[in-house]
Amino acid sequence: MNHFIYRENELYCEDVPVQRIAAQIGTPFYLYSHATLTRHFKAFNEAFEGIDRLVCFSAKANTNLAILKLFANLDCGLDIVSGGELYRGIQAGFAPNHIVYSGVGKRVDEIDYALKSGILMFNLESLDELKLINQRAGRLNQRARIAIRVNPDVDPKTHPYISTGLKKNKFGIDTAGALEGYRLAGSLEHIEVIGIDCHIGSQITEAGPFEDALNSIKTLIKQLKSELGIQIQYVDMGGGLGITYADETPPSLKEYAKAFLENLEGMDLTLILEPGRVLVGNAGILVTRVLYKKAGKGKNFIIVDAGMNDLLRPTLYNAFHAIEPIVRSQAPLTVADVVGPICESGDFLAVDRNLTEVDADDLLAVMSTGAYGFVMSSNYCSRPRVAEVMVKNNQYHVVKKRETYQDLVKGESIPTFME
Ligand SMILES: *Cc1c(COP(=O)(O)O)cnc(C)c1O
Repeated sequence: MNHFIYRENELYCEDVPVQRIAAQIGTPFYLYSHATLTRHFKAFNEAFEGIDRLVCFSAKANTNLAILKLFANLDCGLDIVSGGELYRGIQAGFAPNHIVYSGVGKRVDEIDYALKSGILMFNLESLDELKLINQRAGRLNQRARIAIRVNPDVDPKTHPYISTGLKKNKFGIDTAGALEGYRLAGSLEHIEVIGIDCHIGSQITEAGPFEDALNSIKTLIKQLKSELGIQIQYVDMGGGLGITYADETPPSLKEYAKAFLENLEGMDLTLILEPGRVLVGNAGILVTRVLYKKAGKGKNFIIVDAGMNDLLRPTLYNAFHAIEPIVRSQAPLTVADVVGPICESGDFLAVDRNLTEVDADDLLAVMSTGAYGFVMSSNYCSRPRVAEVMVKNNQYHVVKKRETYQDLVKGESIPTFME
């Protein structure tokens, strides 16, 4: 359910016609609905009613400060993967003890920053990292709270680039290794073991893999207690719940939550979840304008002003995003590739797509782009990054300004030896 709806053939975001924003700020831009974001968080959180829990929005899906602030205001926690995301999280007002820190490659400066900030826990991914965190916490006279990210070797049945819980993936430690890791962690002076963590992948559209992962984690929790006397307080089951981009049928929130609620009953644990895509994916669209049409040999091209540098998912993952006209017409259907201005054949938003015919200057919406959209954008081909806009009821606000040409060269300088 989202708040991008047609009224009389014209697309609105809540009570604002998308066309009006385009006329006032130009294109392309990402557009987010405050009501959809709020609704998604509340529905997710309420699905876990009845169990101690902390829902930590996975920042990397969309790190715009306004979006982070919206979630912080709803008492949401935050899952971060870098010092930069920690900085944003603190700026947005998240309580540090509601922040968990994942990622295979945490640097010393990032570890120190997180320790000084007093985050809830580090989800650590190797024994080397464990030793380093122990050492850094010692220097700061602290005990670092940690969970070990376990790789339960379950197949999430998703795109290989976003599958993270298989033996061959770089993430986490396998279950046997994790037991050794906990043994070591239990012996380290500046480490406090509080949790166990796993994250098996993204855009998962079945409940089965989550349940398999949880069962594997539960076995380990019991082993930790009986063999090492370690009492786990937090079980972090990561993110990964999929959304509907085309015709996928992910489990409902209720079915998804049921897998956890039934399996954790009576275990006296706090459940942590790290949803990203499911909170923001369908709360955002990318608005772009048609520049040209071109009939190739056996192919029609619609050339628009947004490219792969603005939305990488189609070319990176072969991801499908619905493309809708901002103003619906009675024009006949056509089949076309929707492509951007970048000098790469991989620069497409849609391939062989059925669309109603469009003309130059028409506006199109690339749907379901609230997650892994703007955050993966780049300045490739010296294209300024696009604006981001948030709508609430009948108001809109530019939550990130479109970059200028001056922004493009910020920080660059010509060496004196070239003058
Ligand atoms: C990316 C990521 C998430 C969020 O994944 P979604 O599929 O967007 O829900 C959660 N936890 C970790 C550790 C991640 O890397």
